[in-house]
Amino acid sequence: MHEIKVPLGERSYPVLVGAGARHRLLEVLPIGATRAAIVTQASIPVTVDAGIEQQVFYLDEGEEAKELASVEALCRDFAVWGLRRTDVVVAVGGGVVTDVAGFAAAVYHRGVAVVHVSTTLLGQVDAAIGGKTAVNLPEGKNLVGAFWQPSAVLCDTETLSTLPPRDYRSGLGEMAKYAFLGVRNLPDLAIEDAVAACVAAKVDFVSGDERESGRRALLNYGHTLAHALETVDRYDLHHGEAVAIGLIYAAHLARRLGRIDDDWVAEHYRIVGGYGLPERLPEGVDPDELVRVMGRDKKATHGLTFVLDGPAGLEVVSGVSQDLVRATLNDLAG
Ligand code: NAD
Repeated sequence: MHEIKVPLGERSYPVLVGAGARHRLLEVLPIGATRAAIVTQASIPVTVDAGIEQQVFYLDEGEEAKELASVEALCRDFAVWGLRRTDVVVAVGGGVVTDVAGFAAAVYHRGVAVVHVSTTLLGQVDAAIGGKTAVNLPEGKNLVGAFWQPSAVLCDTETLSTLPPRDYRSGLGEMAKYAFLGVRNLPDLAIEDAVAACVAAKVDFVSGDERESGRRALLNYGHTLAHALETVDRYDLHHGEAVAIGLIYAAHLARRLGRIDDDWVAEHYRIVGGYGLPERLPEGVDPDELVRVMGRDKKATHGLTFVLDGPAGLEVVSGVSQDLVRATLNDLAG
């Protein structure tokens, strides 16, 4: 079992990674908690035993469940059950469950402790770590949320065996990102070692910049285009698949700007292709629409902002011209 500490002063917490990590729940519960509200989804075949009085609350499936109404419903259920401020919420699921339950925990009684038991690959390498919680509005993804660090995260790699193959592959898309954030030889590692290496990398970025005022933003490598593809929402892409395309795109854009060479672009294809992830834009994509979505809220004259690789490693690069962004989209047309 790997144990990685997230060093955030009084908000520090452990992340346990390995087969059977969910059985360590009792030992990571906050002292004094007498009740555990387990938040999960009916389709997730993972049960946990908090070792204290517990009750299970179900969320609906999919991005649609990431809405304020789910947070209100959960908080009302917590209140009816009698969950107190000193008790604990235990989120058992992927990014949807940890985002919604994490946000409910952040606001219920102005904040109760939450433990994430992450059951998807994407959740284990990314969503469950770092304390970002959010729900969507009709106007956009993740627009309402809070930074609310969990008191522990359990990444039980045993639970990944029941994950639908496409959700597993989506997690590999986030994993591919870490290859460009300094994690070496990921495909050669056993899954629990690979997850632990990604967690350690994310922790390194989060601990120095908890609220993303600087370096943490580099974790968004590949995400500018990915979020636009998801916002347009016509392409049936899972998050990690969109990130995979976004990584290839970021490589092409960096090459056009003279920041990286052909070999480093080829390395992006090698990593993303090696995981069987998509490398091209979906059929019928409208480059103008994507440019518009990526540039939302910004004056056209300021250009767009991307995380790009270059001689000094990954950097946030602003002011990339819309024409270049559009031309590079054409490089990747499906
Ligand atoms: P998800 O939570 O929707 O899970 C995918 C599917 O797998 C769901 O149908 C779920 O019920 C099912 N499932 C989960 N665990 C299972 C298991 N062990 N066995 C069988 N089925 C299982 O999707 P996801 O990819 O985990 O997360 C995506 C979400 O995470 C997005 O909403 C994204 O915005 C969010 N996210 C958040 C952060 C963050 O820092 N907070 C980071 C990245 C992504």
